[in-house]
Amino acid sequence: MIRVQAVAPESLGAALELLPGTELLAVNARPLEDFLDWEFLTADEQFVVLARLPSGEEIEYDVERPEGLPMGVTLEPPRIRRCANHCDFCFVDGNPAGLRARLYIRDDDYRLSFRYGNFATLTNLKPWDVERIVEYRLSPLYVSVHASDPTVRRWLLRNPEAPEIVPQLAELGERGIAFHTQVVLVPGVNDGAELVRTLGDLYGLGGSVLSVSVVPVALTEYSKRQLVGEPTADQCRTALQTVDRFATRALAERGSPWCYGADDLYLQAGVPLPGPEWYGDFEQRENGVGAVRYLQRQIAGARDQLPDLAGKRIGVVTGTAMGPLMPQVLEDIAAATGAEFRLVVVENTMFGRSVTTAGLLPGGAIEEALRERTDLDFALLPAEAVNDDLVFMDDVEAHALANRVPMPVRFSYDFADALVEQGVAA
Ligand code: SF4
Repeated sequence: MIRVQAVAPESLGAALELLPGTELLAVNARPLEDFLDWEFLTADEQFVVLARLPSGEEIEYDVERPEGLPMGVTLEPPRIRRCANHCDFCFVDGNPAGLRARLYIRDDDYRLSFRYGNFATLTNLKPWDVERIVEYRLSPLYVSVHASDPTVRRWLLRNPEAPEIVPQLAELGERGIAFHTQVVLVPGVNDGAELVRTLGDLYGLGGSVLSVSVVPVALTEYSKRQLVGEPTADQCRTALQTVDRFATRALAERGSPWCYGADDLYLQAGVPLPGPEWYGDFEQRENGVGAVRYLQRQIAGARDQLPDLAGKRIGVVTGTAMGPLMPQVLEDIAAATGAEFRLVVVENTMFGRSVTTAGLLPGGAIEEALRERTDLDFALLPAEAVNDDLVFMDDVEAHALANRVPMPVRFSYDFADALVEQGVAA
């Protein structure tokens, strides 16, 4: 059973007089488990919905969807599938006390993998889930492989029950499902020969594995550091050499590099990033793969729409990961707008200095960094650092922060978005 949270006006849901709180029980006599059932089973032009109104009355709707009319039904959030693993590097286990409750949930949910690109391990799949993935064609999925050797993978996941990943991917691949995969690199465990084996096994699965990213493990000050360490610069360079070997082969045989090092891997290795063309459609950008080149490309693409901001002093807030890489991005945008960009690199006071991504910056740390900055006309903040309700990790609300700093603030994913808007508003 799933429940309606909201109904949009001028939608099919409104025409049916569905109300918030209505329980959606079945479509075409098939019981509804979650949003996937609802979306897929109501995609046809005709279907029958069985619902229970908040009054308790059960109604069967014989629906014929007029062309172009959206369903307009927002469902209550699904119950998240919990993770059955206990990785030493688990970010959630490394969370300090006092964050939003949602941040303590260790999710491992193939539905969120399909919908939002969250990486899942597939260790908690039941046969019924596999059938659903195939029936609803939930493809591509984002899968944390880490190691193809079952023993090494079980050790990394701290899950002796974890099924073998290569046969799992092979079965789903044969049935039409594709994957973006990642290897979180843990020195001394899945690097060296293990990395070669893992990449070789994934490559051997053919076209169903669309890409693989190699990401150096990121620990917080609260992680189990006695059990897991971060790679050294040398270890990152060695991993990049392996990545390059597979990428060169894939480029020759399949026309795309297929295997990518995360920006952080290049940064930690002290090796320059490849050009933007290397990353194709930037499909693992959210995983920190090609993020810098993506920003540069967005800026270049918006060049004609960027306003003249000559004389403006614009603060750019970022985490310590992008700090050293950002000047090359800002150079381009300064040339296009005439503005002066002043980088504000913020250390993560909540998770610790080793958490370097801008998307995990707490509002309190950003506020602290901007509080005395009377030299800025406005500041760009990383849009990934707030949730849909514009609240930071530490529950600081964006509008409250904006009231406490001496300059206007704008949220931005790629600079171009906020600056074009700024030009329109000016
Ligand atoms: S798979 Fe590992 S890292 Fe991911 S949530 Fe589970 S325990 Fe944490």
